Amino acid sequence: HVHVCECNSCNGGSDCFKFLSDCIANASSGDPYFLEPFWMRHAASSAILVSGWHRMSYSYSDGSYISEVLVKYIQKVHSIVGNAITKGRYFIFGSGSTQLFNAAVYALSLNSSVSPAKVVATTPYYPLYRTQTQLFNSRDFSYEGDTSLWKNNTDSNSRFIEFVTSPNNPDGKLTKRVLEGPNVKTIYDRAYYWPHFTAIPSPADEDLMLFTISKLTGHAGSRFGWAIIKDEAVYQKMLIYLQLNTIGVSRDVQLRALKLLDVIVEGDGKEIFQFAYSTMRDRWIRLKQVISESKRFSLQKLSPQYCTFFKRVRDPSPAYAWLKCERQEESNCYEILEAAGIIGREGSDYSADNRYLRLSLIKSQDDFEILINKFKSLVAKEMETQ
Ligand code: PMP
Repeated sequence: HVHVCECNSCNGGSDCFKFLSDCIANASSGDPYFLEPFWMRHAASSAILVSGWHRMSYSYSDGSYISEVLVKYIQKVHSIVGNAITKGRYFIFGSGSTQLFNAAVYALSLNSSVSPAKVVATTPYYPLYRTQTQLFNSRDFSYEGDTSLWKNNTDSNSRFIEFVTSPNNPDGKLTKRVLEGPNVKTIYDRAYYWPHFTAIPSPADEDLMLFTISKLTGHAGSRFGWAIIKDEAVYQKMLIYLQLNTIGVSRDVQLRALKLLDVIVEGDGKEIFQFAYSTMRDRWIRLKQVISESKRFSLQKLSPQYCTFFKRVRDPSPAYAWLKCERQEESNCYEILEAAGIIGREGSDYSADNRYLRLSLIKSQDDFEILINKFKSLVAKEMETQ
């Protein structure tokens, strides 16, 4: 029953070997299948059943777009992990954190009467900040490229909205904002600020932070994210956006998210984080080991760091490898790796040089094993020709 290139039940044996050597390693998407084994272990307790007659109304008919019980669970998860200050903060839910990007841009840019607010990010950055801002083309905001272009800006009429992804997608670094001053608003995308992917040096306490279950529980297809907001006026504007855009977030999704978080906080609430961290750490160590023998390829440098969640110094465990092709003549890393059966995402997708390539490390274990095997043979070939 083992199909070549579709070997989810493969646990070893001769068929597996064939599978590992024949298949293409597709490391392009950010599907967080690495968490699937956790949910298989909690199959019964994480299940929900919703009858046809149940929850038919618009969510506002029951008083709110935002389930208060769900907010409590989110606060509980944050307090177990210690990755965000939530006390006295406002919450907004979105259809994934993706819906909240523009809700935040809208709220922070409203009535930019002088000139449109300039939406910016620092290379390499997650492409949706740019593409979504351009899609919602507005008189109040416009995408204006890399923060480096505006660092020494002296025009006091300019207003900025800076997206900061921390840890960053694609390179896993705990980045900080670049622009400062009274005319700058910052949207902190904290999608990866979980022990799965990074040390937690301290609880995040920014004015506007975005989180998502996509990278916490792995349920990317459910489309559920939340914003944590300090300023009530900003919260009110985001709420208006949500009302006008989708009349709130699906109640079914809020119910599912509640059940998933309920499982996460069971016991001491540490199991998913321990599992996710050890899985991602193991993958990073193995990939680093293989690439360390190569002069042709290199990986981003990440250092062990003290983590307040694990209460010790811990190894890096990034969601993505940010691979660099080092040879002068190999300036398109995507093509080089594609020829070797490895599919990643081009550096230019992140507004970076095509010498770089993003490889997803958060897919299934089988996907990762195929990736490692491809790299092993690629590096072995390099050694032979030296
Ligand atoms: N922010 C970053 C930095 C991401 O990488 C992703 C998903 N790849 C998202 C947000 C999107 O999250 P969601 O699924 O909640 O829309």
